[in-house]
Amino acid sequence: MRKPVFAANWKMNKTSQEAEVFINSFLNNPLPKDAEIVVCSTATSLPILSKCLKEEKNNIGLGAQNFYPAKEGAFTGEVSPAMIDELGVQYVIIGHSERRAYFAEDDAFINKKVKTAFEWNFVPILCCGEDLTERELGVTNEKVAMQIKKGLAGLTDEEIKKVIIAYEPIWAIGTGVSASDKDAVTVIDMIRVTLDEIAGTKVSDDVRVLYGGSMKAENVKTYMAHKTIDGGLIGGASLKPDTFRELIENGVEARNK
Ligand code: PEP
Repeated sequence: MRKPVFAANWKMNKTSQEAEVFINSFLNNPLPKDAEIVVCSTATSLPILSKCLKEEKNNIGLGAQNFYPAKEGAFTGEVSPAMIDELGVQYVIIGHSERRAYFAEDDAFINKKVKTAFEWNFVPILCCGEDLTERELGVTNEKVAMQIKKGLAGLTDEEIKKVIIAYEPIWAIGTGVSASDKDAVTVIDMIRVTLDEIAGTKVSDDVRVLYGGSMKAENVKTYMAHKTIDGGLIGGASLKPDTFRELIENGVEARNK
């Protein structure tokens, strides 16, 4: 049985003071135990989150939204894997559509980041998904399968088992328009077939595949009612402790039914 994951992607939101307020409030009430909870903040908030998470017993993992796949050097403005490792980062978001679109990250670069993540023992949360034109043209499966194959190229079976994949239709991210659970299941099942082709069922059965795109407390149960969906990558609804908590509680409840 795969353990569900609910990962917050705060994007470029929250000063470290605001991150501290969030995490202290979030830690105030017990969270469901049978889920992996991850908070991915900007690099500037990682130190305070790391400190707060170490002080309280909890099942919350710390995630980074970005790093540059090189040890060190002349990469002005970038943050290295060693720098985030030092702060206790365990997860890294890779291939988010915003980084693909605004920072021109292509599949080859994303694959380099995934491989670097494993060198540092970070769990990669590899994002994939089609835009509206691709969906309307009926090429969603080809697009997503290609992103998965290129993103995971050259990994060992043991590494593939540890990857978390987030299927995020671009037209559903931050728009309030979520994909129907049926549409999400269709693509996620195709992702599982692709993983089968790459590494075989023994490996692909262990891979957690999440849905992302306007997931909220009100719709999470419809996704989590499907055993093929292992949780969510959540933007807007993760910015307030109460809304994120309610989403996790509802998601776990549906999963355990
Ligand atoms: C995301 O940022 O990955 C995301 C899914 O955002 P939202 O939940 O706001 O659509």
